Amino acid sequence: MSMISVIVPCFNEEAGLPYFFPEIRKLANKMFANYGILFEILFIDDGSEDKTLELLRELAVEDDRVHYIAFSRNFGKEAAIYAGMQNISGDYVVLMDADLQHPPAMVEEMYKALENGDYDIAAARRVSRKGEPPIRSFFASCFYWLINRISKAEFVDGASDYRMLSYRAINAVLTMAEYNRFSKGIFGWIGFKTKWLEYENVKRVAGETKWSFWKLFLYSLEGIVAFSTVPLAIASVMGILFCLVALTWMMVIIVKTLIWGDPVAGYPTLACLLLLIGGSIQLSLGIIGQYLAKTYLETKDRPVYIVKETNKELSNEEKTN
Ligand code: UDP
Ligand code: MG
Repeated sequence: MSMISVIVPCFNEEAGLPYFFPEIRKLANKMFANYGILFEILFIDDGSEDKTLELLRELAVEDDRVHYIAFSRNFGKEAAIYAGMQNISGDYVVLMDADLQHPPAMVEEMYKALENGDYDIAAARRVSRKGEPPIRSFFASCFYWLINRISKAEFVDGASDYRMLSYRAINAVLTMAEYNRFSKGIFGWIGFKTKWLEYENVKRVAGETKWSFWKLFLYSLEGIVAFSTVPLAIASVMGILFCLVALTWMMVIIVKTLIWGDPVAGYPTLACLLLLIGGSIQLSLGIIGQYLAKTYLETKDRPVYIVKETNKELSNEEKTN
């Protein structure tokens, strides 16, 4: 009998979980009744500071389909997803947020798409960004426009993390054991045939979003550095261009001096040039620094997450007690 494992990353979700859990349980019962498919609900407590973990322990006692893995601190949603994927028991995995922004009812459609082997991924895509500040939507479209031009991985605007993956696709994701995890890129990079299911943006049922505009901005930079080296090329091209301009200008000055004996002038020009060139050198160094920093973190080979407590037999060396 096949099994669907639902991975639910939770960070301070004590307000949302009491709404979320009955919904997911309803879904599990329905899927079992209709398709005879088993469910496992794997919560990842990403270092919550509220009562999330206590709630999860209670749920696990109440329902034996519930498993949880609790991190020793907040490692981020990407780490939570990775930990989940490493430790599922199912043949299919669903990634779902704990705030009911990902309508659980869509799982049935996803399952239908994957079941007969036509697709390896079924992913939800928001058709509208309704309810989001316009400035955020604007920057989001800029980001997608840019990243798709400078990266080989495909980035789909509106694509959410809400998706179902087949066993093959999960294994592909797990081979990418990088420390800097940018899921949107990873899902695009592994390829496989993806079925897109559209849905309307839903407001969070309770609690607050963990994403400020600034966090999102930094996250988009992460994505660019993780999935493209074009900025490095831009830095070099900029250097070459400046050299060419400087050479030409030098010629002009030499010729002018030889022919007309031009007196020294042009302090403003010099000041502007100095600033411009100084600025672009700084920028290039900054870009190189970004990549160097990422390389540094990757070479340290630190674990992506650390487990504090779990009620599941962990499948890898990340075992605790
Ligand atoms: N989340 C997490 N770790 C974090 C931030 C968020 O596990 O550091 C979880 C959070 O509990 C939720 C999901 O990731 O289940 C999506 O987070 P959120 O709703 O804040 O993001 P948004 O929906 O606003 O993009
Ligand atoms: Mg949310």
